[in-house]
This record gives sequence, structure tokens and C-alpha cells, in this order.
Amino acid sequence: MPIYEYLCEPCQRIMSVLVLKPEDEKNVRCSKCGSASLVRVLSRFSYHKTEAQRLKEFDTRAPRDDSFYKDSRNIGLWAKKRLQELGADLGPEIDEIVERGRTGKILEDYDL
Ligand SMILES: [Zn+2]
Repeated sequence: MPIYEYLCEPCQRIMSVLVLKPEDEKNVRCSKCGSASLVRVLSRFSYHKTEAQRLKEFDTRAPRDDSFYKDSRNIGLWAKKRLQELGADLGPEIDEIVERGRTGKILEDYDL
């Protein structure tokens, strides 16, 4: 049975929803604010798998254009790869920072 993860756009909350039938997807609402503005995101498992893959293939010396950063999954990739190349291990803290950068949550830490 597929369990999908959705990101609620108004409140930026990620929730897991068990979808039994394809038509159930249309009825998915945010459990916190009730909004139907949800975008499906990859489950954490496959997300981290593809992230490791992306990191492996990523070349920090190759030129990157603006479209690279339009994919939020690429935010923080350069920093992570450089740290890896330098042999620095920041542990789970870097993943947390990058995750907040990708979801826009990091902006809440600053008074803008
Ligand atoms: Zn919500």
C-alpha cells in the first residue's frame, strides 16, 4: 500500500498519508490547517537514497546555472559535497540545516 508524503503549502508541514485508491488523493487535506494545497514529496527513504546518489555524481567544479537551484533538492548539495571532499563530518546537523534551507524554514530563523 502506498504511503505518500505531502507538504502543506500554507503551513509547510509534511505529513504521511496512506492512499488506498488513486481517487483518495484528491481528498487529502492537511491535518493541521485543513488546506487542500498539498504537494506530494518523495518519501524520506527514497529521498535520502537519491540524495546520496546525487551527491556522488555532483561535481563541485562543474559550472552551474540558475536552473540548478530551482530544484530545491539541489540547495545545500554543493556545501555538503565540499565538506565531504574536505573530510569534514558535521553529522546530522548539516542535514538539518540543509533541510530547513530547502523547505524555506530557515528563513523563520531570521527577522526579515
Ligand atoms: Zn497545513
